[in-house]
Amino acid sequence: MCMLENCIFCRIVKGDVPSSVIFENDLVFSFLDIHPFSQGHCLVIPKQHFARFEDCPPDVVAALAQALAKIAPLVVQTVQAQGYNLLVNSGLAAGQVVEHAHLHIIPRCQGDHLIQHSPTIQYPPCRMEEISNHIRELLH
Ligand code: AMP
Ligand code: ZN
Repeated sequence: MCMLENCIFCRIVKGDVPSSVIFENDLVFSFLDIHPFSQGHCLVIPKQHFARFEDCPPDVVAALAQALAKIAPLVVQTVQAQGYNLLVNSGLAAGQVVEHAHLHIIPRCQGDHLIQHSPTIQYPPCRMEEISNHIRELLH
C-alpha cells in the first residue's frame, strides 16, 4: 500500500499521529477533524495515499461511499444534529490543504448558518450547451 512519510493523514492511518478514530476497514479510515466547523465534523479518507479524490480507483471510491453512508447518519444521531453536508475540497483553489484525498462530513442544525450559499451566476447565451456538450465529448 502506498503511504507517504511526510503526509499527516498517512501518519494518522499508520497510528504514528493520534486521532479520534470513528471507523476503519481494509480501505477506509475515519476520524474527527481537529478544527471542526461543528461537533462531530469528521473526515473519511482512503488508507492508501491518493493526492485527490479523483485519483482514487473505483474500488476505493466505492468503499468511501459505503463508509460515508454508514457513518454520516450515526454522526448526526450522536451530536443530535438535523442533517449534514458532504464536502470534498479538490485542489488548492478549492481549499484543499491536506494533499491526501478526504471527504468531510459536517453535521448541520437548522439556522446554524455554517456554510452559506453563494449568490448564483447567470450563463451568457449558449454557454450552458457549450459546457454540457464539451463534457459529454470528453466522456466518450
Ligand atoms: P482540507 O481543507 O479539505 O484539506 O481539510 C483538511 C482538514 O484536515 C482540515 O479541516 C483540518 O482541520 C484537518 N486536519 C489536519 N490535520 C489534522 C489532524 N492531525 N487530525 C485531524 N484533522 C486534521
Ligand atoms: Zn497520505
